[in-house]
Amino acid sequence: MSDSDFQPGRVMDLAAGVRRITAPNAGMMTGPGSNTYLIGEDEVAVIDPAMDDADHLDAVVRAGGGRIRWILVTHNHPDHSSGAATLSQTTGAPVLAHPARLTGVRNEAFVPDKTIEDGHTLVLDGRRLRALYTPGHSADHLCFLLEDEHLLFAGDHVMEAVTVVILPPDGDMDDYLASLARLQTEQIARIAPGHGGGMDDAQSQFAQIIAHRHAREQQILETLGEGTWRASELVEAIYQDVPRQLHPVAEQQVLAHLLRLARQGQVRDEGQQGPWRRVQS
Ligand SMILES: [Zn+2]
Repeated sequence: MSDSDFQPGRVMDLAAGVRRITAPNAGMMTGPGSNTYLIGEDEVAVIDPAMDDADHLDAVVRAGGGRIRWILVTHNHPDHSSGAATLSQTTGAPVLAHPARLTGVRNEAFVPDKTIEDGHTLVLDGRRLRALYTPGHSADHLCFLLEDEHLLFAGDHVMEAVTVVILPPDGDMDDYLASLARLQTEQIARIAPGHGGGMDDAQSQFAQIIAHRHAREQQILETLGEGTWRASELVEAIYQDVPRQLHPVAEQQVLAHLLRLARQGQVRDEGQQGPWRRVQS
């Protein structure tokens, strides 16, 4: 894999009938840009149209060769969903996404034509592409499994060498870990993420992420010790190796862990989302 693989407009062949085109929105939170996937040859499903960018969507339409039948969206975040309406107008294909979106944090501009739930399966060129409901990064997050390839289109649920951001209340750490545990029970070998390159060791990725999150939680509990701490103070203590401009995101991440620990009865909220205290057993 090289940087030019993610050059906007470039069509990358990843597997039989599976192609990737990266949108021109590289950035701190989006890596080399959002990945749009095309699955199928005679009947094509697009996963995550990404940005409403004319050049990007032209490249997707051209690659689809007039055979785009479905537009699937992993979750409502604008870097995955913004291009959906335009692509649907151009191709006539309906936009499919999960209905769960929380009031106040959802992307109001994104409205799917049809809502789909866990287990919804498209059959394209005789191949099964199955939706897996994986809340955590967002309440409406879906992954899609191309069953014959054991290939998971993971949206923002798993990324290469990047910690997925969980922002409460739309993001939920408890849900996130439960979704990962559920993926461990599926026949998944490879991952095609929403940003960055693919991974060939899906099961060890899932195990590593779960272990990393549990280690972070242990670190939070140890830092809390006997004292009371705000999430921002925990970030100062724990994320010393992280650039300051990322501290607000890290604070939300710590908050996501604290909310999960509170649900488990391991910490107590002394106010309104802080300060927090460890419950001594
Ligand atoms: Zn996202």
